[in-house]
Amino acid sequence: MQLIDIGANLTHDSFDRDRAAVLERARAAGVARMIVTGASREHSPKALALAQAHPGVLSATAGVHPHHATEYTDECDAEMRALHAHPEVVAVGETGLDYFRDFSPRPAQRKAFERQLEIAADLAVDGVGKPLFLHQRDAHADFVAIMKDFEGRIGPAVVHCFTGTREELFDCIDRDWHIGITGWLCDERRGQHLREIVGNVPSNRLMVETDAPYLLPRTLKPMPKDRRNEPMFLPHIVEELARDRGEDVAVTAANATATTRAFFRLPG
Ligand SMILES: [Zn+2]
Repeated sequence: MQLIDIGANLTHDSFDRDRAAVLERARAAGVARMIVTGASREHSPKALALAQAHPGVLSATAGVHPHHATEYTDECDAEMRALHAHPEVVAVGETGLDYFRDFSPRPAQRKAFERQLEIAADLAVDGVGKPLFLHQRDAHADFVAIMKDFEGRIGPAVVHCFTGTREELFDCIDRDWHIGITGWLCDERRGQHLREIVGNVPSNRLMVETDAPYLLPRTLKPMPKDRRNEPMFLPHIVEELARDRGEDVAVTAANATATTRAFFRLPG
């Protein structure tokens, strides 16, 4: 099994003490590549630096998460555009809307989201925008409306860590967006509905991610003592996902990897 973790927050402080070992454990578990999520002004440059230090293993995204939307100034926009000039940065984001936590005011979230969509559109190659790594929670209607404003100008999009309803899932699929599945699926308290709908995602739209160090799969046995999630647990998530889809795990894994390579334009 050769997997790609499309969402790993490897710049997180909790990895400072053993980042090299985390990467080695991931490789040993069959996670061949990881995309380091850049989600703030502080961490997006760190994600790039990490990717530059591990060519062929790590790529990065650069963006500002809706939680940090208030930091999205003109200066920040220029910083993001500078980061996107580097080939290691393969997607715009994490960006989007989060009305569940509302850590930033909603108008600021919408503005920061639109400005980052503008970047993705500006970086279009042969009319196809730069891939988008998107976050949406409890904001589906506004999210769809803003994306619609950019229709025809933005390229492929993945709704990372999808946790929405069946209707929202079909909305995404109808718009040809990709779906990122995390260990949320393994949470018996809030992931049960996901298990029932993941079979509807076409193989060529489905990708997998840990969102490490967050979202430790609750079905892991044994559980790591520190409760930190890391990319080596991705195969566990894929096993659970394959079971819910009624697929052989090797098939789910191979399809997700091929889909991911095409989406982020990664070398074979
Ligand atoms: Zn997210």
